[in-house]
Amino acid sequence: MAEAVQTLIILGASGDLTARLLLPALGQLLTHEPNRRVTLLGAGSQNWTAAHWRHIVRTSFATEKASGPAVDELLASTRYVTTDVTKPDDLKALLEEAEGTPALYFALPPAVTKEVCAALTKVELPDGLRLALEKPFGTDVRSAAALNRRLAAIVPEDQVHRIDHFLGNSTVQNLFGLRFANRIFEPLWNAQHVARVDIVFDEQLGLESRAGYYDHAGALVDMIQSHLLQVLAVTAMEPPATMSAADLRDSKGLVLRATKVWGDDAIASSHRGRYTKGRIDGRVLPSYVDEEGVDPELNTETLAQVTFTVDNWRWAGVPFTLRSGKAIGKVRHEIVITFRDAQRLPTGLRGAAHPTRLRIKLGPDEMVLELNTNGPGNPRYLSRSDMHVDFGPGSMLAYGEVLAGLLDGDPSLSVRGDTAVECWRIVAPVLGAWRAGDVQLDDYAAGSEGPASWPAIP
Ligand code: NDP
Repeated sequence: MAEAVQTLIILGASGDLTARLLLPALGQLLTHEPNRRVTLLGAGSQNWTAAHWRHIVRTSFATEKASGPAVDELLASTRYVTTDVTKPDDLKALLEEAEGTPALYFALPPAVTKEVCAALTKVELPDGLRLALEKPFGTDVRSAAALNRRLAAIVPEDQVHRIDHFLGNSTVQNLFGLRFANRIFEPLWNAQHVARVDIVFDEQLGLESRAGYYDHAGALVDMIQSHLLQVLAVTAMEPPATMSAADLRDSKGLVLRATKVWGDDAIASSHRGRYTKGRIDGRVLPSYVDEEGVDPELNTETLAQVTFTVDNWRWAGVPFTLRSGKAIGKVRHEIVITFRDAQRLPTGLRGAAHPTRLRIKLGPDEMVLELNTNGPGNPRYLSRSDMHVDFGPGSMLAYGEVLAGLLDGDPSLSVRGDTAVECWRIVAPVLGAWRAGDVQLDDYAAGSEGPASWPAIP
């Protein structure tokens, strides 16, 4: 069992990620686990006083109504260190401030993270040091592999937490119970019985002032390359023998190694779109290209849809379509398993039989099984009935789950180095075709469902 982290050091403490996602999740975690003791050090270039930093932490904690002894203790002891995190001597001094086993959370732009990693190789490091790295992890296969090599020179792989908060999403975690603790699903969870799998994460939000990052990433890299391929891996993985990090990450790795673009044809299997001016819930969104900071020449997509195959015995021949977009009229966050048609309908049973469909929603945490039944009314006539299951919300935010893994030294919810590289390998042909201009960038109006000409997702 790994030592629990006693000091969490956030590099880039003045940033958006820290205030909006990390600190609220930490506050919630400490509220749920009042016996956990963590000292928090904020580090960065700002000349902040301890009082100002405490105010930032307190304000972020308040968004999750954080309270209790662990929260009080952290608020009393937290400190801010003004430092240049890219300098070995500064990092050494920072690490010397830590009590017990420390974790360094890189809430930094990726280029700065690389510099800090280089600096860390020149510092004598405390035992058990854990590193938490944010997305994007590299920009392609080569850069992700190079970053892995650099990290391997600092700490062992099990101490590296590549954060993907989708793995902390409560519904993604519910997949383990649903798939592996019910006799009725797993025997059908294969190409013999499943016709297609779709994983959709459409949101109503537009750019939300994030051009600096998003305009260079786009929907494919921002969502599919990282989060949705991780969800695919959990959806398609073999049953692990245990819930240990080794077993879970091996099972995910096997799926991702078998995953590639459908038909090896990135042009035919992918679609990209960009929103134009439109209206969502009474709010007018400007065209993406008119958003502040956007360079229209980059041709960045705000909606991506790509079909993959998981080319192994269980899934050969089943298309897995992953889609994510901004400024879509209807929020849709779900995994859709479409089963094959019934083998034969009894003669005399009338009406259309549609495929049985399981919708597993990534918030609100619920599931709908769409079935053919023969009621109400004429019992010889088929109709459709839905079976609803409420998973109930998880007890913690997704970031709280991944932070708990980091603090406890359990990397099961973090992305292993080899799979981070695999995810770049999987999308590389699509990125190549898009950059070469081989797939046209379709317009869709903000508030619509996306380009009408694209293959529909059931
Ligand atoms: P910011 O652009 O807000 O930067 C974070 C902090 O990094 C800054 O506040 C600054 O901290 C430090 N920093 C910036 N430039 C430099 C530099 N040249 N040298 C040294 N330090 C620098 O980023 P975010 O907080 O938005 O994101 C941080 C990371 O998290 C990124 O990798 C991002 O991709 C990832 N991420 C962000 C999400 C979000 O919603 N914001 C969501 C998911 C991932 P200081 O002044 O304290 O030194």
